[in-house]
Amino acid sequence: MWDRVVIESTNMFCTRCGTRLDDSARFCTSCGKPVGVDQPVFAAAPRKLRRIVSRKKIAGVCAGFAEYFDTDLTLMRVIWVALLLLPPQLGLIAYIVCWVVLPKG
Ligand SMILES: [Zn+2]
Repeated sequence: MWDRVVIESTNMFCTRCGTRLDDSARFCTSCGKPVGVDQPVFAAAPRKLRRIVSRKKIAGVCAGFAEYFDTDLTLMRVIWVALLLLPPQLGLIAYIVCWVVLPKG
């Protein structure tokens, strides 16, 4: 797991101790953990929404969304299935759109 700083709109929080940090802060005022964007060691890799074909059941859309939202794959499938089954079947349209649009990864 990356020990990274969570950025919520303009507020940053230290992931180590949870202290709210000033936008311009370079280090956590409480525990001294470095914060900020110019730190390759702590920077998380940019995530891209994609289809993960190697983990697919149908087209890998669920796996891609699960990865993107950092969610359990099974939970994401349940959500998708619910969207697929419940009227007006928004999930079906969304799934097909994602299938066509998202790159294989
Ligand atoms: Zn801290």
